[in-house]
Order: sequence, then C-alpha cells, then structure tokens
Amino acid sequence: MTPPDEPPVPARISIPQYAMALAHVASLRSEDPFRKVGAVAFDFSNRVIGTAYNGLAPKFNASPEFWANRDDRRKYMIHAEVNLCSLFTRGNVRLVACTTKPCTSCMQMLCAYGVEEIYFREDYESSEADAIADLYSVKLVQLTDYPLIITEPT
Ligand SMILES: [Zn+2]
Repeated sequence: MTPPDEPPVPARISIPQYAMALAHVASLRSEDPFRKVGAVAFDFSNRVIGTAYNGLAPKFNASPEFWANRDDRRKYMIHAEVNLCSLFTRGNVRLVACTTKPCTSCMQMLCAYGVEEIYFREDYESSEADAIADLYSVKLVQLTDYPLIITEPT
C-alpha cells in the first residue's frame, strides 16, 4: 500500500511579490475609470504601513460628467503614491510597491520620504524615475511575476 501523495508545498512568495499583490488589490479600489493605480508601504520589519490608490480628494463626489473627458480629469487626480505618503512620516518606510512606475514628481517625493526600495509592475515611459533612483541610490525594480489572486473587474 502506497502512502497518499503529500500535498504540494506552495512556494513562499517574496516580500516584493507580497507587496505587489497588495498594491494590485488596492488599485481595484480606484474610482478612476481610465487608470487604476495601487501602492503599498512596508516598514523596516516588513509590516504593512498602509495601502493607497489614485483618486480624488476625500469627500469629493464627482458627477458622471466629471469622468467624461479623460484629459481634463488628470490635473485633479491624486496619485496613489501621494495618498500613500500621507499615511507615514519620513524614514519609517523601507519599501514601496506601485502597480505603475512612479511619475517624476512621485519618485521625487518617495525619495524625500526616505524610501529605499521601490517596485513597480507597469512601465511609465515619460517618467524620469530611473534617473532619480540612480542619483539617490534608490533601488527601483520592475516586478511582474507575482501571484494574481484576483482579476480586474469587468
Ligand atoms: Zn505620480
């Protein structure tokens, strides 16, 4: 009699993969119909400080007409990284994961907050994040191989 097969031991995902999966979930909460971005911050003990997503200022309720023009809405959208940094103080966060590469302004802000490692899923070509990361010796890495637990709503 042969013993029953042992259940497969699932591989343990890395901290950056864990962070990106959480950032992905946060992105699903964005109210922006055109671009949904999520972000998460981990402290120096790999504890989650907070999650955030892009959107409008708290308590502002946009009318359906607000979303009619993709370009007009841009100047009002608060980026996920900005919302994320509102949750912590400088020097308390080691790692940030964002579903999209930080824009130039957000990359500057993440550096000002002392973030040491930044992971992103989707590239953002017009961002100067790579040059900023090089200058300030911040680790900036594209990460796409994380477990997709849920899919985008249809
Ligand atoms: Zn930004």
